[in-house]
Amino acid sequence: MTDQQPAAAATKATRQPAPTPAPASTPSPASTRDTHAFIAGLPKAELHVHHVGSASPRIVSELAARHADSAVPTDPEALVDYFTFTDFAHFIQVYLSVVDLIRTPDDVRLLTYEVARDMARQNVRYAELTITPYSSVRRGIDDGAFMDAIEDARLAAEKEFGTVLRWCFDIPGEAGLASAEETLRLAVTDGLRPEGLVSFGLGGPEIGVPRPQFKPYFDRAIAAGLHSVPHAGETTGPETVWDALNHLGAERIGHGTTSAQDPRLLAHLAEHGIPLEVCPTSNIATRAVHTLDEHPIKEFVAAGVTVTINSDDPPMFGTDLNSEYAVAARLLDLDERGIAALAKNAVEASFLDPAGKAEIAAEIDTYTETWLAG
Ligand SMILES: [Zn+2]
Repeated sequence: MTDQQPAAAATKATRQPAPTPAPASTPSPASTRDTHAFIAGLPKAELHVHHVGSASPRIVSELAARHADSAVPTDPEALVDYFTFTDFAHFIQVYLSVVDLIRTPDDVRLLTYEVARDMARQNVRYAELTITPYSSVRRGIDDGAFMDAIEDARLAAEKEFGTVLRWCFDIPGEAGLASAEETLRLAVTDGLRPEGLVSFGLGGPEIGVPRPQFKPYFDRAIAAGLHSVPHAGETTGPETVWDALNHLGAERIGHGTTSAQDPRLLAHLAEHGIPLEVCPTSNIATRAVHTLDEHPIKEFVAAGVTVTINSDDPPMFGTDLNSEYAVAARLLDLDERGIAALAKNAVEASFLDPAGKAEIAAEIDTYTETWLAG
């Protein structure tokens, strides 16, 4: 593969994802409506969502219009069909075609700014967006111009939408140690490192990509003041989560789904306050979990592990953050206060400064009490 993100998707293909996750909710229409309305207005933070993977049909349409030689349709209605995957090979093809639309710094800026607009519409007040700068820089976008583009979008989004963005730069694991070295360079070099960067991640496949080999890069990122947030335990067993903790200094775990297979690991996560970035619909779409009702989120909560709710690659998986909260509310049988507590978990588990956390937590409380007072 010539591009890291599609290669990551290709590896997910080995899991033979279902094209469209089946809705599993059966509460009464009234309570469903109330829950959805409550969630829609609830101030939220998101901790696990990918940059290119957040390109909605609306955004892809704008990018496609800029690059007329692309096969991607520009009509948003046609794009909804285009985003309906028949199988995982099709998903990879679509993902590749979206990656191919991001060719200039201004494309990067447009994508980032418009992703923030989509988040603001869902009352996402804060998001840590996972970016794979290696893919763009390797493609020929100047590294400094890339950083300027994301930073310009970040500042504009905060000012215009009130949504605060921070970055996680992730290593595309399947691209090997050269990509780790390059991602680290982009993350820690003075003059390149963007102000909004808070963390260092590791994405892509887990099978055949042992986490410990990335230890030297995580050590250097952590020494440079970045937080460690690798993906682990999405497609391989709990031993990968242990590797992320023991070798990469993980402070949160991306997915961590298979942690449920190891009670000692669950106890460790709970005891050490290591949150999981749970993305329920993604797990079904990639068949990391067979059905929503079999999702281990309940086991995580029962074990005292901090659960945060996230959307991963939302338009690609036919979801958004609000829908993921609705799924979680159903699986965990939560009322409004329970849903609000879940939202506060994400705020608390974020790398926002204490004052910023307190502000959003207070907004969540005020919103919830006002809603309940009816
Ligand atoms: Zn992810």
